[in-house]
Amino acid sequence: MSSLLVRGGLVVGPSTSSVGDVLVRDGVIVDVSDTIALPPGCSEIDARGCWVGPGMVDLHAHLREPGREAAETIESGAHAGAIGGFTALVAMPNTEPALDNVALVSYVLDRGTRTPIDVAVAGAITVGRKGESLAPMAEMAALGVRLFTDDGIGVQDPSVMRRALTYARPLGVRLAQHCEDELLAAGGSMNEGALSSRLGLVGRPALAEELMVMRDIELVRLTGAPLHFLHLSTIRSLNLVDAARREGLPVTCEVAPHHLTLDETSCQGFDALFKVHPPLRAASDVEGLRVALRSGLVDAVASDHAPHAPELKDLAFDEAPAGLLGLEYSASLTFEALGGDVDPVQFFSLLSRGPARIAQLRRDDLRVRHSAHGGALVAGDDANLVVFDPNARWTASNATLHSRATNSPYDGRALVGQVRSTIAKGTLVVHEAELV
Ligand SMILES: [Zn+2]
Repeated sequence: MSSLLVRGGLVVGPSTSSVGDVLVRDGVIVDVSDTIALPPGCSEIDARGCWVGPGMVDLHAHLREPGREAAETIESGAHAGAIGGFTALVAMPNTEPALDNVALVSYVLDRGTRTPIDVAVAGAITVGRKGESLAPMAEMAALGVRLFTDDGIGVQDPSVMRRALTYARPLGVRLAQHCEDELLAAGGSMNEGALSSRLGLVGRPALAEELMVMRDIELVRLTGAPLHFLHLSTIRSLNLVDAARREGLPVTCEVAPHHLTLDETSCQGFDALFKVHPPLRAASDVEGLRVALRSGLVDAVASDHAPHAPELKDLAFDEAPAGLLGLEYSASLTFEALGGDVDPVQFFSLLSRGPARIAQLRRDDLRVRHSAHGGALVAGDDANLVVFDPNARWTASNATLHSRATNSPYDGRALVGQVRSTIAKGTLVVHEAELV
């Protein structure tokens, strides 16, 4: 098979980094050292000045297939992911129909194997994501599903959530919650506050999120089952999770790039591109999230990539669906949010090693179909890696998106740091920021 030498980059390990070469052969990293002579017939990538890290892992990608292929397909989402530096995506189950059974999970896994990267699946917690009866999690777990969520909505009924946690624990899987109390958030389309009042829009209060975080921490305490908090958007939510973790409770959390880089004032133009759940928050929360990100309080950055067909985002702000594109700019926006002198170890912890641990996609985890992700970049690892240029300056453009949809709020934004190459399962999938 093919071999590839990644030359002269800063090779970023789990705790330290050093400049060197990485040799990939037949889908596996076979050597990492200061200088490796180019073997005959081997192609070479110049990574000087760049960071070479484990391929990124996205915990939160809405790939829309089956049901809404006009917005995205598993294939187009995988291409957008590869451009963004991702070698593995976790496909969310709020498709139509929902991924709440073995047949549909198998369908998505099979389609995923036809893409250049790994596509894992998060199964639904409840049948049809209706929040009532439990989906057959054990059967889906037998296919390799390791995360379960009703994302798009949280499990509202605490007794259902308690039962789900109790059921999940012996399966060795993790539930993931979209935290919003729908009774408190009802009818809201942006953050609740002075600005929503001024704009005449119904708000979704921060408390709708925080109340469910509080409730679920107590349910974790009761059941002992691990729980992952999706796209937390307020500093209070993060502080609650931090306190729970200090008590030894098995909780993890992610934040989304848009909550780190955009605030509620973006909604002033009533442009539905900025409508997302949980909503863009006050500037003070954005700054608080950035501080928490730098301080190591956050386990993962996850895109919450949510494509929508163009006609839907042309609707009035309060009628349009929530969600925006995330995969292609996640790495650059995370780099921006970390600010100033970014630690490459932390960068890859947030975008690769942390999420791979939560999704159980690492070498030591039980795997059914996928190659291993979030590795230490040592010989013997599956060759999922990314070359990121921390000095690149470029401009986001909705004209060059690889997603089928175009609902990105970042058109025209100046970005620093760019994915140059993505190597998935030993194959060069993205080179010079273009699909090969
Ligand atoms: Zn969600």
